[in-house]
Amino acid sequence: MKIIDVRAIQPVGKNSPPDWRTSLGQILVAIDTDCGITGYGVGGGGLAGIHVVKTVLRDLLLGQSPKDISRLWDEMYQSTLAFGRKGLAIMAISGVDLALWDLKGKAEKVPVVSLLGGQPGQQLPTYCTVWNTQDLESIDSHAGYKLHLGKVSNAGQQDEMIQAIETARTLIGPDPLLMVDAWMKWTVESTIAISRAIEPFQIDWIEEPLSPDDLSGYAQLSEQSAVAIAGGEHEFTAAAFTQLIDQKLHTVLQPDVCWCGGMTELIKIYKMANRAGLRVCPHRGAEIWALHAIAALDPDPLAETGRPWMTWVTGQPEIDGGLISVTDRPGWGLTFDEQSLELVY
Ligand SMILES: [Mg+2]
Repeated sequence: MKIIDVRAIQPVGKNSPPDWRTSLGQILVAIDTDCGITGYGVGGGGLAGIHVVKTVLRDLLLGQSPKDISRLWDEMYQSTLAFGRKGLAIMAISGVDLALWDLKGKAEKVPVVSLLGGQPGQQLPTYCTVWNTQDLESIDSHAGYKLHLGKVSNAGQQDEMIQAIETARTLIGPDPLLMVDAWMKWTVESTIAISRAIEPFQIDWIEEPLSPDDLSGYAQLSEQSAVAIAGGEHEFTAAAFTQLIDQKLHTVLQPDVCWCGGMTELIKIYKMANRAGLRVCPHRGAEIWALHAIAALDPDPLAETGRPWMTWVTGQPEIDGGLISVTDRPGWGLTFDEQSLELVY
């Protein structure tokens, strides 16, 4: 089997941005082979990511066998090293890597979960991310909830945030997990203060309080925060996660498989974290791309609800009664009707 084309497009999704800005510009990568099988993956970077796929990664992959994904990943990393390493070049590689895993599953007629040593069909618990406490007024049956404070996390709003977290716990009751997402907007000092104030509300983790570059800040928090620290959705490659894991800077690691380098990197992150006794809880884990890994590799599975801009991903399993599972369909188990997709690019 040989690769005969590598294509990348950005479909229009509900509430998706009009161009490639921020991490929301998700791209669909399609890899065609000479035996008629097409593999699909999703990466990030919008138009800029598409440009990396079309002008660098496509040339590298044409004529190659898609089978040795690890070698192809290394070649893609090396070919983008001078301008890549983190950010949108790795987001583009992620989409290609996931398409290669789809091809592997389809060629062997098994789902990706089976390639990873797991079984399809296992019922996995989910947690639901919400952007305000009103969304918690009528909760369903998720194992947990995460209050995203990204829009109100500025300095001077500490009391408002603590009040919102207390309200969230009151609304969901004592049993479900409750997490808080600061989206890189707090400081070491404010995180320590808030962690102490919210500890009585049984908070399972504080997510991304600091910039991913502030490793010394995270080292301080690992000693002084009263609540476990989670992070990693804006970190790239397993090599970067090695530092987070070796120094135990996060208790919960949250790689995004569509951004961090794809399944090839997520597998390495799971192995390192499992050895170190740390938890992996992939960003947007209920979306199909990470869900296969959660089903196969996770000793304590918990899948985060997906995002509305991925509505063009057809065949994504639904959450039912707070649970979700992957099917036994080959590859990711998805189908794409490329002709019917409305495109941003
Ligand atoms: Mg987050």
